Amino acid sequence: MRAVVFEDYKTFPALKDVESPVPGAGEVLLKVAGAGACHSDVAIYDTFEEGMPGAQPPAFTLGHENSGWVEELGSGVSGFTKGDAYLVYGPYGCQRCQACSRGQDTYCENVAEVGSLGIGLGRDGGMAEYVVVPARNLVPLGDADPVNAAPLSDAGLTPYHAIKNSLDKLAKGGATALVIGLGGLGQLAVQMLKAMTGAEVIATDMKEDAMARAAQSGAKTVGGGPDQVAQIRDLTGGRGVDVALDFVGIAPTVGTAMASVAQGGRVTIVGIAGGKYTWDFFSTPYEAELTNTYWGTIQDLWEVVAMYRAGQLKPAVERFSMDDALDAYHKLQAGEISGRGVVVPHS
Ligand code: NAD
Ligand code: ZN
Repeated sequence: MRAVVFEDYKTFPALKDVESPVPGAGEVLLKVAGAGACHSDVAIYDTFEEGMPGAQPPAFTLGHENSGWVEELGSGVSGFTKGDAYLVYGPYGCQRCQACSRGQDTYCENVAEVGSLGIGLGRDGGMAEYVVVPARNLVPLGDADPVNAAPLSDAGLTPYHAIKNSLDKLAKGGATALVIGLGGLGQLAVQMLKAMTGAEVIATDMKEDAMARAAQSGAKTVGGGPDQVAQIRDLTGGRGVDVALDFVGIAPTVGTAMASVAQGGRVTIVGIAGGKYTWDFFSTPYEAELTNTYWGTIQDLWEVVAMYRAGQLKPAVERFSMDDALDAYHKLQAGEISGRGVVVPHS
């Protein structure tokens, strides 16, 4: 079968012929419906070097945002019907620590022993015709479109987890939230904030088309430039935002988020770009918090799928055939994808 393979650090992935995988005990073979091209993959093949935090040794098939149809069951697996559509929970931990027991494999306490972070992150992912996944990592899609669902595995799950962790800040009248970076994750963050909270959503990006799409989802948009923070604060009556989500994570966007937050508000950095921020007692409003987050729990993913099936989430998807799979990454790096590029191997 064909697969998009991460062959070495600092090397653009290759479209290759590889052996079709065989499901082992407790695993299911999926015929891939869709595999999203996430900006984190660019870090894998372009930024990371051996030994860096998050780096996973090559070679493996990329694709940690996957959906597909059940093709074959490994030993000990039952209760699945061939042809049924599922979304894949990508993280995979030791399955016995406290974090894994609550479905939060992202924070597995024995990650070193597992040997990978998950599907498409150390072990073979779904940017291929077929992928093997642990049966427990499958969330049923029912009759919902599996191709458009693919980005929900990460571009949906990650903002959902971040927003859920900040609902305490948004559960009040007059709440406001800021979304910085309106790509694959940011667009879904806007849709989730609108569906899950009553907050006014303020959104910003360098790209006009990205801001236009966020405006269609109900956000007020603010461009970049020297008066960006002043404009954001104006929209909040001067108070600042209760929650800021930064899907870029470079020093200027972390700075914008911290300069825009209200007293007692929370800034969550999602973008993995290594931006530094210098804190001192008077640099931020009182009791404003700064945190990070990584992906989400399997329970969160069931809730994201429930939102999708209820029509509350509409991922904007640009489809690529297997022949054109590498173009999804070329266009992502060039900033030419609005929404999410999804490889559809069986179109
Ligand atoms: P993307 O390329 O689809 O979107 C990024 C968006 O940010 C683009 O619209 C771009 O125009 C915008 N942008 C870039 N620089 C900007 C700036 N200075 N100001 C405003 N907007 C700017 O990327 P994505 O797939 O949505 O991923 C976003 C980030 O989140 C990446 O860093 C990725 O690695 C990270 N990520 C983190 C997690 C996690 O668990 N923490 C999970 C998935 C992705
Ligand atoms: Zn664990």
